[in-house]
Amino acid sequence: MSNDRRRSLQRRLLTWFRKHKRDLPWRRANDPYKIWVAEVMLQQTQVSTALPYYRAFLKRFPTARALAKASEQAVLKIWQGLGYYRRALNLHEAAGRIVREHGGRVPDDPKAFSRLPGVGRYTCGAVQSIAFGHRLAALDGNAARVIARWFAVEESIDRAAARRALWDLAEALVPQRRPGDWNQAVMELGSEVCVPRGPRCPRCPVRTACRAFECGLQENIPMRRPRRPIPHIDVGVGIVRRRGRILICKRRADAMLGGLWEFPGGKVRPGESAADCIRRELAEECALDVAVGDHLVDVTHTYSHLRVTLRCYYCRSPRGRVRALGCADARWVRPAEIADYPLPAADVRILEALGVEDK
Ligand code: SF4
Repeated sequence: MSNDRRRSLQRRLLTWFRKHKRDLPWRRANDPYKIWVAEVMLQQTQVSTALPYYRAFLKRFPTARALAKASEQAVLKIWQGLGYYRRALNLHEAAGRIVREHGGRVPDDPKAFSRLPGVGRYTCGAVQSIAFGHRLAALDGNAARVIARWFAVEESIDRAAARRALWDLAEALVPQRRPGDWNQAVMELGSEVCVPRGPRCPRCPVRTACRAFECGLQENIPMRRPRRPIPHIDVGVGIVRRRGRILICKRRADAMLGGLWEFPGGKVRPGESAADCIRRELAEECALDVAVGDHLVDVTHTYSHLRVTLRCYYCRSPRGRVRALGCADARWVRPAEIADYPLPAADVRILEALGVEDK
């Protein structure tokens, strides 16, 4: 792209952004911590979904110091339902590092910031450009689609080489002045105009600089490799009651949904019944012998890469000490107290089936 064309693209898009940008709370905040929280929440998450979580999170943890002081459980509870819980754990750990190593302030230094847990190239570029004006690109899914169309990239953008090329193009386009506005403008265009299907080219402020539009390729770009079908697994889950309490277990930190609490159980093996699975899993996970009784509910939940059906059964286990063998912790909890613990979305539905309200 020639320098003139690049400058015209920058000018047009920034003018459009000034007039049409959505009024979002993190855009009003001139606080690097708040911008950082928003950028982490918005990864793989729609703005409308993230908004209530953003408000609740900042009300509870208004500064990096407040976040650093909180327990992991409190952070995960506020995050409950937003998914991708590793983001919350990394944010929490990074807040601790910010307090210990940077006097409680988000570092105004891309190198120092990118050394914090969970800060990859996107988060670093977004926060450092928006909060501090560093000339760095921020390539999320929206920006990647927009740039692939501007340059008519006819390669699958899932490929590492194409992704690297898009980063190079994105870096070259960031202007010296207002790089944060620029990054937000590109993403805003992707979210509001240059949408995945049916891009609104006639009302696009930069269509004269768009190769895909010029060549009539806007519906074909970006190209992606065909998705593999999502696998489905059955999981046996035991609702074990003893003296008015129910057993819950904490998932190991290195597991999917690490740090969250759940009703114990595990994957049903080929040829195994859900009841056999529950008996085996509870012995392996928390050293407990159980008798499996009535069926409570089946709950199906779809993650980005996996669909799971939880087959939940009431269990009896009148005696025997619980030991956390295959989990990080195990506790007998009164039904009304279970909702104090951070739970995966599927376990919230089991809680509802038990007639207990989540908080
Ligand atoms: Fe996207 Fe169409 Fe604008 Fe090109 S002209 S950037 S394809 S909306």
